[in-house]
Amino acid sequence: MRKQIAAANWKMNLTLTEGEQLLDQLLSNKYELNENRQVVFAVPAPYLAMAQAKLAGHTNMAIAAQNCYSKKSGAYTGETSVLMLQSLGITHVVLGHSERREYFNESNQLLAEKLNIALEHNITPIFCCGEPLQIREAGTQNAYVAAQLEESLYHLSADQLKQVVIAYEPIWAIGTGKTASSEQAQEMHAYIRAQLTEKYGELVANTITILYGGSVKASNAKELFSQPDVDGGLVGGASLLVDEFKVIIDSLK
Ligand code: PEP
Repeated sequence: MRKQIAAANWKMNLTLTEGEQLLDQLLSNKYELNENRQVVFAVPAPYLAMAQAKLAGHTNMAIAAQNCYSKKSGAYTGETSVLMLQSLGITHVVLGHSERREYFNESNQLLAEKLNIALEHNITPIFCCGEPLQIREAGTQNAYVAAQLEESLYHLSADQLKQVVIAYEPIWAIGTGKTASSEQAQEMHAYIRAQLTEKYGELVANTITILYGGSVKASNAKELFSQPDVDGGLVGGASLLVDEFKVIIDSLK
C-alpha cells in the first residue's frame, strides 16, 4: 500500500506558545498510525526545533520545513538550508507551495534545484503543484500541471522520484473554503499518476504518494481520501484546529 499522509501546513500562523499548545493537544490523542499512515507537521522555521523535540517518542510522525533554499550554505540572508534542517533532524520539506510561487516568484526551475538539494540530503520533499482558477476555467489544468511536473521533477532518477511526495493543490481551492469535488481531485490525481507512469513506468508511479490540498476539513476528508489515487491531504486552515485535524488524521485510508 502507498504511504497515506495527513500533512499540516501552519503557514505563517501561531505564536510559539500557541504552536506548543496545538501540538500538545494533538499529540495527546491516540492515532492508528503505522509505516503506511503518517502525520507530518509543516511548521514555521523558528518552531522547527520545538516541534521536533515534541515528537520524541511519537512514531510515524514527522516535522517538515515549509521551504528551504537551493544552496547548501553561504551569504543568503534570511534563508534556511538543508544542512540546518538536517542538523535539527528534520526529515521533510514542503517545496513549491502556491504561495511561494506567487509571492516569492518561485519558478519550476528553481524548484528543480531545491528538490535536488533536499534529495541529496535525504530530506523528503513534499512537492506542490496545481492550477489557478483561470486555467481551470479554460479547461487546460492537465497541461498546466504536466508542465510543472516536467520542469521540476522529470530530471530525477526513478530512485529519487520514489522519495518525493506530490501534493496537488488547485489554487482556487486553497484557503477559499471551495474544495475540489472528490471526482475532480481523483481525476487530476489519476492524471498525475498516468503522467508519472509514462515517464517512470507503472511500478514507480504506483509507489508515489499524491496528497490533495485545498480546503480539506473534517467534514470532507474521508470522502476525498477514499478516492483511489488520493493518498491523504496537505491541510492549511483546518490543521490549526485540534478537533478538525484529529478527524482528518483519522480519515486516512
Ligand atoms: C495549504 O496551505 O496548502 C492549503 C491547502 O490550505 P487550506 O487547507 O487552508 O486550503
